[in-house]
Amino acid sequence: MFATLSDRLADAFKNLRGKGRLSEADIDATAREIRIALLEADVALPVVKDFVAAVKERARGEEVSGALNPAQQIVKIVNEELVNILGGETRRLRYAKSGPTVIMLAGLQGAGKTTLAAKLAHWLKEQGKTPMLVAADLQRPNAVTQLQVNGERAGVPVFAPQPGNGVGDPVEVARQSIEEAKRKLHDVVIVDTAGRLGVDAEMMARAASIRDAVQPDEILFVVDAMIGQDAVTTAQAFLDGVGYDGVVLTKLDGDARGGAALSIASITGKPVMFASAGEKVTDFDVFHPDRMASRILDMGDVMTLIEQAEKAFDQEQALKAAQKLSGQGGDFTLDDFLEQMQQVRKLGSMQKIMGMLPGMGQFREQLENFDEREIDRIQAIIRSMTPAERDNPKMIDGSRRARIAKGSGRQVSDVNNLVDRFFEARKMMMSFAKGGGLPGMPGMPG
Ligand code: GDP
Repeated sequence: MFATLSDRLADAFKNLRGKGRLSEADIDATAREIRIALLEADVALPVVKDFVAAVKERARGEEVSGALNPAQQIVKIVNEELVNILGGETRRLRYAKSGPTVIMLAGLQGAGKTTLAAKLAHWLKEQGKTPMLVAADLQRPNAVTQLQVNGERAGVPVFAPQPGNGVGDPVEVARQSIEEAKRKLHDVVIVDTAGRLGVDAEMMARAASIRDAVQPDEILFVVDAMIGQDAVTTAQAFLDGVGYDGVVLTKLDGDARGGAALSIASITGKPVMFASAGEKVTDFDVFHPDRMASRILDMGDVMTLIEQAEKAFDQEQALKAAQKLSGQGGDFTLDDFLEQMQQVRKLGSMQKIMGMLPGMGQFREQLENFDEREIDRIQAIIRSMTPAERDNPKMIDGSRRARIAKGSGRQVSDVNNLVDRFFEARKMMMSFAKGGGLPGMPGMPG
C-alpha cells in the first residue's frame, strides 16, 4: 500500500539528514523531490501543487522548533499536510436518531461494492449493530446471489427480490427493504446499488431514484484505488450525479501507487471513511487519515496494531505469559512460546504485522520475501519435543536434538537455531517485561 510513495518520500528526506539548518536551496530541492514523489504515486496534479506550496511555505522558517532538527521538522510538516489532504480528522459513521440508519453504496461495477457491503455489515455487527443487506443491484446477472453469498459469510441477512415484491425494479426493492428492516428491527440497512463499467446518465438517474426512495443517512461512494487517475474523475461524476457523504477506498492491497485515491478527499471535499484491503470479510477498517499518513511516512501504525492485537489475543493467555516473563507464575516455556506465536499469527501475515511497525520501510524487500512457512517449520519443531522438553528447554541435549530434527523433518542445525533463539528471545522479553515494556510479543523468527 503506497509503497512507492513511502520510498520516494524517504529518499527526499534523506538529503536533509545531518543538516543544522535549512537553506532556501535545501527547501527548494526537497520540495521538488516531494513533488516528484507525489506525481509518481499518481496523486492528482492540483493536489500536488497545493501540497508542495503548503510544505514550502511552512518550511520557510516560520515554524522553528527547538525540539526537532530540520529534517524532522519537514517530516512533521509533510505528515500534517498528508493528514490534511486525506481529510483531516477521522470521520465516523452517523447513525439515524430514530428508525434504521440507511447506508447507500454507489460506485462503478467492479469497484468492490458488493464485497464491501458484506465487510461493512460484518464490521457493524462487531460494533453491536443488527444490520441487513439489500440487493438493489438487479443489473448484473449474479449480483443478488453474490450478495447472498457474501452476506452469509458475514452472518448478516440479505433482503433480495422475491417474485411479487417488485422484481426488476431496484427502487421498489430498496423501498420495501426499509419497511422490512423496521418490521424485523434491524438498526442499519445497507443498500447495494448497481454500477456500470463506466459513468453513464441512466445509472446515475437510477441511483438518484433509489436515494430519493430510501433517504439514506449516509451515501458512500465506493472506489477501486487501483484505477489510477480515473478514480478522481469518477469520484467527481458521482458527486455531481448522485452526491455522497463519504468515500470508501477498496483494493488498497493491490497497488503500490494508489495515489489517485489520496487525491479524492481533497478534490471532492468528501472524507475517506473506510478502506478495504483484501478479499476477506475482515480486511476492512475505518480510515484514519493520521494513521495512513504515518504509514506512508514509515512512522508505523502502532495504534491499529494494538487494536487488532486486542481483538485477536486471548487476554487471559497474554496476561499469563506476561506474568511469567516478569518472573511470576513459573518459567516462560516453549509451550508458551508456541502459544504466543499462534496468537500473533491470528493478526495476519508477518508481512502485514511488521509493516505496521515504524521504520520497517527499509526492510520491505526482506518482508516481501519472508516465507510465512518458516513459522510452520518452527511450530513443527516445537511439536516434536516432549512436554518435558518444552517445559525445560535446557534439557534438550545433542541426542534429543537429533531426535527432534528427525521427528519434524528438519536439520539438527534448525533445532539448534530455534533453541538458541528461544533463549535469546526469552532473555530479551524478560528484560522488557521487567522494564514495563511490551509484554507478550514473542521473539521474531527469521
Ligand atoms: P461491485 O461490482 O462493485 O459489486 O464489485 P465486487 O464486490 O463484485 O468486486 C469486484 C472484484 O473485486 C471481486 O472479484 C472482488 O473479489 C474484488 N475485490 C473487492 N474488494 C477487494 C479488495 O479490497 N481487495 C482485492 N484484492 N480485491 C477486492
